[in-house]
Amino acid sequence: MTATKLDLIKASEWGIFSDMKKPLVIAGPCSAESEQQLFETARALKNEGVEVLRAGIWKPRTRPNCFEGVGAEGLVWMKRAQRELGMKIATEVANVKHVYEALKAGVDMLWIGARTTANPFAMQELADALKGTDIPVLVKNPVNPDVELWIGALERLNMAGLKKIGVIHRGFSSYTKAKYRNIPQWQIPIEVKRRFKDMLMICDPSHISGKREYIQEISQQAMDLGFDGLIVESHICPEIALSDAAQQVTPTALKEILEKLIIRNIDSENVKYKEGIDELRNRIDQLDDELLDILADRMKVAEKIGQYKKQNNITILQTGRWDKILEKVFRKGEEHGLDNEFVEKIFTAIHQASIDVQTRVMKG
Ligand code: PEP
Ligand code: MN
Repeated sequence: MTATKLDLIKASEWGIFSDMKKPLVIAGPCSAESEQQLFETARALKNEGVEVLRAGIWKPRTRPNCFEGVGAEGLVWMKRAQRELGMKIATEVANVKHVYEALKAGVDMLWIGARTTANPFAMQELADALKGTDIPVLVKNPVNPDVELWIGALERLNMAGLKKIGVIHRGFSSYTKAKYRNIPQWQIPIEVKRRFKDMLMICDPSHISGKREYIQEISQQAMDLGFDGLIVESHICPEIALSDAAQQVTPTALKEILEKLIIRNIDSENVKYKEGIDELRNRIDQLDDELLDILADRMKVAEKIGQYKKQNNITILQTGRWDKILEKVFRKGEEHGLDNEFVEKIFTAIHQASIDVQTRVMKG
């Protein structure tokens, strides 16, 4: 893919966050359910220091006949929080009508949901509908772990003239049952950050976890990876929430989560730290060189094996042999305290590269 540049305005100039102290916090219920529920949640959050209120007005539900949001009426309740509590308000838009209603109501910030980001037609329609405005838009990752699709959505908005763009990492759906509702696959938001260093990066531990007890650990990991902020689902009474009840926290619980977070610095000017880190990094660089030397040697042997198999008319792949290698590396890996999954990934890649070399040899 071609490297793209986005023309962005830094989040510190959006007028949404009063200062850029980490973590920036956006919080509020999954869905606006009633004026009372929304306002009480907002007031409690504001008392805990939250400045930006989130609430879903139109809810993208996986199956029909679930609670699908209260619609534009909920915007009136959000406006009350904006007016009476001085909070900034944010909601999700998924089609042109939502954009029209949200802009008309004076919503401060929008977000695009994971199911919408995954659909380029929908993204283009939203970008066209937003043309000419300068409202900040946060784009959730698509439900599938596709970096280009995510970036494509950012590009469509940027090409429509929007410059206040950030991303929300909310994890990726999977067919298999896992600890979290949506698998984080942190390497994907990290890749987005690598390409767009100034991009505002928010983590959504609520939709990653699916369960409130995991919100703390995911939030901490996001902070450790240098995310700028968190969007957390908070409900005045989570047990009776009409959507995503298991993952919402009370405003008090949210405060405790935030207080427990350890916020680390990106760098340090401390001379002792600099010396120590430089030494360790030199060691890593050395080891990386050695790894590459060993990999290159291994590939040369694989090439010889390919020639030998060709002379003797033997297939490239012998599954029995691959099973034995895996068994051996797992055992050895465990002795060194290396995780099986990690070892399997590395050796699968090495094995595949070795098959590729042998295939080239066979073809001649
Ligand atoms: C939400 O934020 O309430 C939501 C629907 O999230 P997602 O698009 O990540 O599923
Ligand atoms: Mn939700």
